[in-house]
Amino acid sequence: IKQLRLVLGDQLNAAHSWWREPDDQVVYLIAELHQEATYVVHHIQKLVGFFAAMEAFAKALQAAGHRVDYLTLDATQAYADLGALLEAKLLEHQARSWAYQLPDEYRLDQQLKALETRLGYPVERVDSEHFLTSRSAWQQYPHHRMEFFYRRLRQQYQVLLDPQGQPLGGKWNYDAENRCALPQTVSLPEPLCFTLSVEPIVARIQRHQLPYLGRIDAKAFIWPVTRRQARQLLADFLTRCLPFFGRYQDALSTRGWSLFHSRLSFCLNTKMLHPLEVIRAAEAHWQAHQDVISLAQVEGFIRQILGWREYVRALYWEQMPSYAQTNALQAERDLPAFFWTGRTKMACLRQAIEQSLDYAYAHHIQRLMVTGNFALLAGIAPDQVDRWYLGVYIDALEWVELPNTRGMSQYADGGLLASKPYAASGQYINKMGDLCGQCFYQVKQKTGPQSCPLNSLYWHFIDRHQAQLANNARMKLVYANWQRQQPEQRAAVLATAEAYLAQLEAL
Ligand code: FAD
Repeated sequence: IKQLRLVLGDQLNAAHSWWREPDDQVVYLIAELHQEATYVVHHIQKLVGFFAAMEAFAKALQAAGHRVDYLTLDATQAYADLGALLEAKLLEHQARSWAYQLPDEYRLDQQLKALETRLGYPVERVDSEHFLTSRSAWQQYPHHRMEFFYRRLRQQYQVLLDPQGQPLGGKWNYDAENRCALPQTVSLPEPLCFTLSVEPIVARIQRHQLPYLGRIDAKAFIWPVTRRQARQLLADFLTRCLPFFGRYQDALSTRGWSLFHSRLSFCLNTKMLHPLEVIRAAEAHWQAHQDVISLAQVEGFIRQILGWREYVRALYWEQMPSYAQTNALQAERDLPAFFWTGRTKMACLRQAIEQSLDYAYAHHIQRLMVTGNFALLAGIAPDQVDRWYLGVYIDALEWVELPNTRGMSQYADGGLLASKPYAASGQYINKMGDLCGQCFYQVKQKTGPQSCPLNSLYWHFIDRHQAQLANNARMKLVYANWQRQQPEQRAAVLATAEAYLAQLEAL
């Protein structure tokens, strides 16, 4: 054949120009790889989600007339590594050259570049045709803040603009109208869950003794694994969640595990859905339903995909590989074992961790302001925090996980991504949801053995990082507040925090 083309598990982009028409001189290689299943301990639903989506994609390509060499772990275990597999397949198919789509992760980018030389065959590198900006976007866009990046992309792609090129409604960003807590009177939509039987995949994962975390119902796998299902989830989001997306985007609640969030990250990150397709669908749906959906809702949603998603990717490629080593706040503590079990007396952490283990999913505020905030305040080593986030979520791929974890949530990059640490006391958790009512700890107390640990840990964090943070304009008020407190009160708060830090495992 002319060419062997490698398709990675997160390159399930049906609109890619590779598949424009079948060519019997081309074979596509889609393979479950041991290396991809083990570079971190993944959630079982993540392993299954990727494997099931790859299998479905291989079948869809074959049905469309393409030649696909689809291999499960059973077939790939014979090869020492990806290079050995490619080498064998190049020979087997008598291919004259090979090709791959630019991977999204630095790790794979390095590996594939090295394989170009090692294999010695002519190679073609093509774009994955998924993102709305290139890998070098950081250099191409003028302001290194998300908001300006986002505005440029709104203009470039003509999203939510009037005919004069101005933002619809006169403002670029409606965040101020969002961020509400969820009232008990607002009912939540039941999340759309699929019920796929994935027993053979689970059996295969167990047979190959792949390490994993979390739980799964192998008879009723809930995540979409085909483009059709992905589009169903999108349609369901638009009708049932978009009307309230922005308003309750920052809410926390005991009543549901995804609230009004889309749960589209897995479909987007595997490329089953294209970001522009999602953005255009949201814009069109809003246009047709302005009686029930305000501009603030759709703008809030589109900003996450057009703004944040592209922005963190740009930062990732600009900063790698050093970004993965950043630890600006010199955080060194171990991640408590309850991150793998949910066994903690803190209700907010318990809920976020348990549902992460149950569904391989937590919404943004749970990741940022519950688990992330705790790790930040407690000074957990970013390497350990990263490994947990990279493993536990179904949507976790390093290009998006790392900037969000190291940067946004742990401030380990010293402020490259976030202009101040996302640090909060128990008061914030209490304001945004109904979790504190069920907690062993008392959110109103700052000191003593039953005080909410987040309260004293918050001030301990503020106090111990004074040299680094006090000059940050956005932190001035916080430091003024801390200084205003009586010395005895400050000492008592710090002593409570020290006691908690000494036994994090017991929280
Ligand atoms: P929605 O709230 O419905 O948002 C819609 C879409 O916008 C998401 O599907 C996602 O594609 C995009 N989006 C929203 N926020 C972000 C963001 N901060 N960065 C990039 N894209 C965003 N997202 C991942 O896709 N993979 C990760 O591994 C990941 N790790 C994270 C780790 C931490 C510590 C934090 C704070 C955030 C992380 N995020 C990650 C970002 C965000 O939390 C998830 O994208 C989101 O929760 C996915 O759920 P959803 O699809 O329901 O999102």
